[in-house]
Amino acid sequence: MKISVVGSGYVGLVAGACFADMGNDVICQDIDSKKIRVLNSGKVPIFEPALRKLIEKNANARRLRFTADFGKAVNHADVIFIAVGTPPRTDGGADLSYIENVTRGIAAIAKEPKIVVEKSTVPVLTGEKIEQILRCSNGNAAKGKCIPHMVVSNPEFLREGSAVKDFLEPDRIVIGTNSEKARAVMRKLYAPLKAKMVFTDIKSAEIIKHASNSFLATKISFINAIANICEKTGANVEEVAQGMGLDKRIRPNFLSAGLGYGGFCFPKDVDAFIWIAQRSGYDFALLREVQKINQLQRQIFVKKVEDALWVLRDKKIGVLGLAFKPNTDDMRFAPSIDIINALQLEGAKVRVYDPQAMERAKGILQNVEYCNNTYDAAKDADALLFLTEWDEFRKIDLQKVKRLMRQPVVCDGRNIFNPKQLRQFGFNYISIGRL
Ligand code: NAD
Repeated sequence: MKISVVGSGYVGLVAGACFADMGNDVICQDIDSKKIRVLNSGKVPIFEPALRKLIEKNANARRLRFTADFGKAVNHADVIFIAVGTPPRTDGGADLSYIENVTRGIAAIAKEPKIVVEKSTVPVLTGEKIEQILRCSNGNAAKGKCIPHMVVSNPEFLREGSAVKDFLEPDRIVIGTNSEKARAVMRKLYAPLKAKMVFTDIKSAEIIKHASNSFLATKISFINAIANICEKTGANVEEVAQGMGLDKRIRPNFLSAGLGYGGFCFPKDVDAFIWIAQRSGYDFALLREVQKINQLQRQIFVKKVEDALWVLRDKKIGVLGLAFKPNTDDMRFAPSIDIINALQLEGAKVRVYDPQAMERAKGILQNVEYCNNTYDAAKDADALLFLTEWDEFRKIDLQKVKRLMRQPVVCDGRNIFNPKQLRQFGFNYISIGRL
């Protein structure tokens, strides 16, 4: 099939490369011409395991091309995926201006009927707006020259860090459309993945995405609340999570206590879902509490650091891990940002290291010192904070770390280490939900 993907970020690039690998003729388009130049020079602007090789293979086979030319992308495709950002507005709702721009662009350019697919995460009823714009733009409807474009909601569930694998081996593919033709085309497009397909109307598909992310965020906040009770009573949250997770109705995923969720999806999607509910006349108080617990988790962690060091002013703090989770360089809404800001506000001097996110961090964090590796960050530190559970950190030489530090304080926000072992090494070890 001839496919275009508008927006070549984490989702657009992965979707484009995977569709090409499935044998389709794909153009990935982006408004950011610098990004397109990078892609056309054979480089990949994001760190995502397996993506570089997949892009290289399919670009060489001429099944995958990159362009900043929107018209070329629209004219090329029978199916146009919209994968632009839907960032949060200050009132919690999703900023849909990028989606609107792309939709108006398609309506103005497309002379043949297109299948227009919402790949971005959008609030329920966005599909209706897209349909309206495609139907009515340029006075087409008034002139009786309507082009029968078709709209599909096909939310994406990939996770950064395992995005290619998630895209190619999804738990389910959700296809929401009111058009039989579009449904048949989407079924054919995804058939090679041999995954379970769920067919719905557009609105239900839109809600499936927000409801799924909000449910997972709820699980995370739930176990973090349990972790706080464990700390106060001397129980161990890992044992509690294991005992809960073995119940098939609960399952063990998303039951790791830590610093709470971050990244480009959960925080904004929970915000957006609360906003959508409010607009439709329902107060989603449960999700407001989920958000509150998530934010509190970062503050509780900063307080633990403060309790361990007494006064934070002029203390040297090494931070290991900046990305919102391992195997990605994505820093968007990462807990590390709030935690570092809070420490700096108290006058601490922060030195940081992350295996992949250092470049991105430079555009976000102020007045931090960037280190070359773990040991560099530990040097003369009064405390060492683990904020992302990169595998690299699990293998560090703890004896060497202790020798390098000024005070042997380790605050492990991701429960990477075994408390007993760390204490045997002589660390003052603080973690989440475990004594
Ligand atoms: P991103 O910021 O990495 O990429 C978005 C891209 O769209 C950018 O490269 C930007 O330049 C481009 N863009 C913006 N306006 C454009 C326009 N008018 N024309 C062409 N390109 C334009 O974002 P992302 O992480 O890929 O997320 C995209 C969407 O997918 C969001 O709605 C997000 O919620 C959703 N999503 C993201 C993930 C994830 O893990 N990142 C997972 C599932 C769903």
